[in-house]
Amino acid sequence: MALGEGTDTAIAPPLALLAELTHRCPLRCPYCSNPLALEGASHELATADWQRILREAAALGVLQVHFSGGEPLARRDIVALVAHAAAASLYTNLITSGVLLDQAKMAALAAAGLDHVQLSVQDTDPANADRIAGLDDAHEKKLAAAALVRAAGLPLTLNAVMHRQNLHHLPDVIELALRLGAQRLEVAHVQYYGWALANRRALFPTYEALARATEIVAAARERWKGVLAIDYVVPDYYARRPKACMGGWARQFINVSPAGTALPCHAAETLPGFAWPSLLTTSLDDAWYRSEAFNRYRGTGWMPEPCRSCERREIDWGGCRCQAFAFTGDAARTDPACALAPDRPVLDAARQDALAPAADFVYRQIGAAPARAGVTSDR
Ligand code: SF4
Ligand code: SF4
Repeated sequence: MALGEGTDTAIAPPLALLAELTHRCPLRCPYCSNPLALEGASHELATADWQRILREAAALGVLQVHFSGGEPLARRDIVALVAHAAAASLYTNLITSGVLLDQAKMAALAAAGLDHVQLSVQDTDPANADRIAGLDDAHEKKLAAAALVRAAGLPLTLNAVMHRQNLHHLPDVIELALRLGAQRLEVAHVQYYGWALANRRALFPTYEALARATEIVAAARERWKGVLAIDYVVPDYYARRPKACMGGWARQFINVSPAGTALPCHAAETLPGFAWPSLLTTSLDDAWYRSEAFNRYRGTGWMPEPCRSCERREIDWGGCRCQAFAFTGDAARTDPACALAPDRPVLDAARQDALAPAADFVYRQIGAAPARAGVTSDR
């Protein structure tokens, strides 16, 4: 792997750029990982800015660009941006809800050099899927989108965010991935940040339901080895050790918000006390190698005990800074998802609270007051 120059020689370039082109989205998922304070269209970067950032990413050594949002297909320039990234030899992945994809757009994206599509599904039961998405006929459109992707000859990953409202359909989700011709299925239990935190009591699964799901995934992995790869992420609230959030702060990924703010992860803008680099005035290279914000929690030097002397400190990098802040008010604490963390009791209390009777969804939306709708529980 190439290394930076001069005083930056210990820092490798990012592997991937997550380009959050827009926060606009026709769906209103109550677990959306976008921030509660969503950017309106008027704050979005112009096409030329994104194209410059893509060129800077390639020059920096980035290998992959993930076009995300919100819904990246809501941007009228998505085909031009994919073409620009492909011309810069970046591997291009479109992370989409699929509801805005039609045959003409699919053909244009494929011709522009799109390499891969990651399509989200909310459930296998159409009525429940549409209720979770907050949009009528969303599920039907997603099935059509999957067929377009496969007909275009592109590899497809299905992303299924799982929670109390759909976990009982996990076997059907695996069947759906096979039927749609996906090569990969991400079974991603909700993590409780942003909108998901606001909906924690409506989404959090019981331990028994989680254990069943884990067994189902293990059996499916064995059965479909070589046909369907299955990624599996459990909720932090049931973990004994934290996940290596983003592979470690500013180690592998650089995230760019719709307004052009460079971040080490999509949630980091919620952390106070940072001067996040704006890519309207700062180069990607400077943001990655030289900004105080990217260097603050890089590596292990910032770690408190018990991380500082822990043998896992270069495996999980102390967990998630945003979660540490959300639970303790201090982003430099050990992530309470670790059972060794002094603040673990705070997470244990949150887990008990999350298991309280189901509440209504707070649907994701830009600007106006949150809308609510009835939800059911399978517990
Ligand atoms: S999680 Fe749902 S609401 Fe959020 S961007 Fe994705 S499809 Fe849109
Ligand atoms: S103490 Fe820190 S480094 Fe060790 S497992 Fe827990 S979070 Fe990871």
